[in-house]
Amino acid sequence: NGSSIAFIGLGNMGARMARNLIKKGRSLKVYDVVPSATAAVEGATPCKTPEEAVKGSSIVITMLPTGKIVKETVLGDNGILNNAPKNGIILDCSTVEPAVEQELSQKAKERGIRYMDAPVSGGIVGAEAATLTFMVGGDKPDVDEVEPLLLNMGAKVHHCGKVGAGQIAKICNNLILGITMIGTAEAMNLGAKLGLDPKLLTSIVNISSGRSWSSDTYNPVPGVMENVPASKGYKGGFLVPLIAKDLGLAEGSALECGAPLPLGALAHQIYRTMISNGYEEKDFSSVYQFLKGVK
Ligand code: NAD
Repeated sequence: NGSSIAFIGLGNMGARMARNLIKKGRSLKVYDVVPSATAAVEGATPCKTPEEAVKGSSIVITMLPTGKIVKETVLGDNGILNNAPKNGIILDCSTVEPAVEQELSQKAKERGIRYMDAPVSGGIVGAEAATLTFMVGGDKPDVDEVEPLLLNMGAKVHHCGKVGAGQIAKICNNLILGITMIGTAEAMNLGAKLGLDPKLLTSIVNISSGRSWSSDTYNPVPGVMENVPASKGYKGGFLVPLIAKDLGLAEGSALECGAPLPLGALAHQIYRTMISNGYEEKDFSSVYQFLKGVK
């Protein structure tokens, strides 16, 4: 299990991933801009700056909200590149622009540091159970080297190609996710308004052609499934601004290559409208409440 690992960004996903690394016997130094988040990972060494976490760590994992924040954390004065050891590895598990990863990997290379993008799918349920899917962009030998570490936090590792390719896979996946969650919420609301029990409708959909992760793993209707944000007041989980960000990433990439995204664009605007209507701190499955007309 070797030397220590730095873990930066201990939010809904990062804290759960970090706890699994500790459980697997890894030695961890952790940092989050919110001190209580840093303190919440039992068994890890809490750090007051990224610098403190990164110094002497051969691997640095970042799980941060946006590309802008990842860039600041990697390139900042007391950030990762200025403090990571030569030949160290930076693994960015956040969902960000492929171009940001390419730029950061180039800057890392100039310092003799290796950089990979390794975004994840599986949500907080997968992060908690260490069943995440990692979509990795980087050089094959580097990907092989980090695979055992990633498997401490997940069940599958896919090498997608060079740096940035993991993000392309992730952005495409979340384009589907953002759309199917709205579709599921729309249908569940219609069924309920027509008098059908949501649990019954869900059990039918889940063995029929309308089934998706949004219906069978992360159902948006309160009380239909246990342990999902919908049954916990839409707290935690995957916040509305983050799915809106991901659909924005898909639209940015689509503009570059000319692919049409009619439903992605509409889904993006629906989540953005939720942000300006009081849903900013709720899980994205609260689109069910939004369509129903309650906060
Ligand atoms: P989150 O908002 O819950 O957590 C982000 C954490 O980063 C917070 O604790 C915040 O305090 C910290 N942070 C912000 N700025 C920082 C800085 N400058 N330095 C250090 N820490 C800082 O987000 P999350 O849900 O954990 O998601 C993280 C990333 O993973 C995002 O890119 C998201 O799109 C992606 N993702 C989320 C999910 C999910 O289901 N929540 C699933 C897959 C991927």
